[in-house]
Amino acid sequence: MDRAFYRDTWAEIDLDAIFYNVQSMKQHVGTQVDVIAVVKANAYGHGDIQVAKTALEAGATHLAVAFLDEALALRKKGLPLNVPIIVLGATNPSYAPLAASQNIALTIFRVDWLEQAMMYAPYDRPLNVHMKLDTGMGRLGAKTKEEVQQMVHMLKQHTCFVLEGVYTHFATADEQNADYFSFQYDTFLHMLEWLPIKPPLIHCANSAAALRYPDRVFNAVRFGISMYGLTPSQEMKPFLPYPLKEAFSLHSRLTHVKKVKAGEKISYGATYAAEADEWIGTVPIGYADGWLRRMQHFSVLVDGKRAPIVGRICMDQMMIRLPYELPIGTKVTLIGEQQGDRISIDDVAAHVNTINYEIPCTISYRVPRIFLKNKSIIEVRNAVL
Ligand SMILES: *Cc1c(COP(=O)(O)O)cnc(C)c1O
Repeated sequence: MDRAFYRDTWAEIDLDAIFYNVQSMKQHVGTQVDVIAVVKANAYGHGDIQVAKTALEAGATHLAVAFLDEALALRKKGLPLNVPIIVLGATNPSYAPLAASQNIALTIFRVDWLEQAMMYAPYDRPLNVHMKLDTGMGRLGAKTKEEVQQMVHMLKQHTCFVLEGVYTHFATADEQNADYFSFQYDTFLHMLEWLPIKPPLIHCANSAAALRYPDRVFNAVRFGISMYGLTPSQEMKPFLPYPLKEAFSLHSRLTHVKKVKAGEKISYGATYAAEADEWIGTVPIGYADGWLRRMQHFSVLVDGKRAPIVGRICMDQMMIRLPYELPIGTKVTLIGEQQGDRISIDDVAAHVNTINYEIPCTISYRVPRIFLKNKSIIEVRNAVL
């Protein structure tokens, strides 16, 4: 029988959670505000086309990615040409005609970029562009009135470009202290005055800003992390305006179970010695799956109980200390719920001293993604086979 995958490790993506998170955000910011679903990095590791389609069904009007390849990949996977995609990062100007032909909007922030992109005109269709203004993130964006006005002047002269949007990005919207956010917001307001005509889309808010300041989002929000049900920072957790639903969970199955005697060693470096006679299980997930070596000493759920990871995590496997003997094939949950206990992405992130964003992004292409709607599997994606 042909299956989508044959390994004992998989991630489950709850598309109903994505749908709910998008709908909740739409209600939160109001119907006159567009939701731009940010699906860069394979939708933060969840699965780009499946998340994109779900977000659109839930009312998102645009998609955003980090670079052109990610936008092209969405088109290849069947995203209709009429769905607008915005590339938030920098793109080489020689690809302007390709982006235009695929209805992919590019970010502009330099006069010389426009000069170079013009050398490839005429395009099949006009290229939509979003002008990025640097209000204090210090990453991409124009900073001076002169740059902005020169770009505006060039856009007016050349019909191959359409200014669809203008935007900025916040550095601290997820922090309690709002001083720097307010500084950037005021700077954005000031810089917008340099534009003689306002483009259709003006946007500044990421998830954190949209959740906290729904009345300061202009007419579109770039919705990333909280579309996946994750809070943008731990300090925002008590102030969320509505509950978020986490979409990502990660599971495996015991492939080997054995009794080891006190003192027997486990894994590379023989760093773990059984403290007493113990039941040790082998789980087929390792650092090549994005379950990194630094997850050592964390716990997983098996038979509803917490089981610590013992010894070093290998490339494809790791060992856990079982509460008692369990059969081969017993489900192991690394992220998600078992019998009322739950390990969240935030728990994993806290253990390895990083932000929740990094955890699902890191779960690699080797782990098949199962997409669920209404608790049934609607699609399986395996990037290995
Ligand atoms: C990734 C990204 C976002 C989404 O941010 P979240 O914090 O995940 O909501 C928004 N805007 C830009 C420019 C980004 O790069």
